[in-house]
Amino acid sequence: MKVATVSIAGERRVGRIAEDGALLVPFDLPISEAHDGILALIRRNGAGLPPTLSPVPLNRVAMEAPIPQPRRNIFCVGKNYHEHAHEFARSGFDTSSAKGAVPGSPIIFSKVPETVVPSGSPVVIDPKVSPAVDYEAELAVIIGKGGRGISAKDAFDHVWGYTIINDVTARDLQARYSQWLIGKSQDTFCPMGPVAVTREEIDIADTPISCYVNGELRQNSNTGLLIFDIPTIIETLSAGITLQPGDVIATGTPAGVGIGYDPPKYLKAGDVVRIEIGGIGVLENEVVERSS
Ligand code: MG
Repeated sequence: MKVATVSIAGERRVGRIAEDGALLVPFDLPISEAHDGILALIRRNGAGLPPTLSPVPLNRVAMEAPIPQPRRNIFCVGKNYHEHAHEFARSGFDTSSAKGAVPGSPIIFSKVPETVVPSGSPVVIDPKVSPAVDYEAELAVIIGKGGRGISAKDAFDHVWGYTIINDVTARDLQARYSQWLIGKSQDTFCPMGPVAVTREEIDIADTPISCYVNGELRQNSNTGLLIFDIPTIIETLSAGITLQPGDVIATGTPAGVGIGYDPPKYLKAGDVVRIEIGGIGVLENEVVERSS
């Protein structure tokens, strides 16, 4: 099932995308529940899907992020593809590389929930704060059933589904502060969407992930190449942190980010970043410069 959070006549709705991809079938949810996006469905875990309303053409609604504001920070995994780990270590921005380019344990950081913006909404760069903003195409896991001490073998029982995230990063801030939170949490730095899919929709061991900037292919990989796979990430996080339904975990980006180039290809106003993950869709955001 492919699910979208949208705005219809100013009201937030959650719906299933119909087979033909052109229609949204809204679920009949109270507005107060639909406000939380697909979290409203995740919370009903086991209670079945709500009844539906009349279909609406997708081109008549405004897309919102699947979870417009996560309940807490988005968990993220750093340096989780081999080639990217090496390009980051070479870039001079990687303060974590003292122990080697490829980490021995997952590197975990987070982005604040207010960074989330939908597909089609601008990523705002502020040159006064950072002149070195970069893109990172990532598969994100959405937790369905919470838990603590989840073993790798049981991990997929806790996965509701997946979406796409652009882990936008201010590289100079990432390097200046040894914790990455500031460089990763600038306003609008977490485009998410365009939709979320339930876990059976894609084969995580073999799903293409790519990123284009202004039509130029920059990242081209496969989610089967993660260094630490999704079960390992869930086992690691949940060992002492109780995962909650609706938690979002960005799994890391493949090679081809801006700092992988010499000279680096930082984002600038007018750039369009397009991320594709097979079976989910296309997350596209234009970069604009903050005006004041
Ligand atoms: Mg990342």
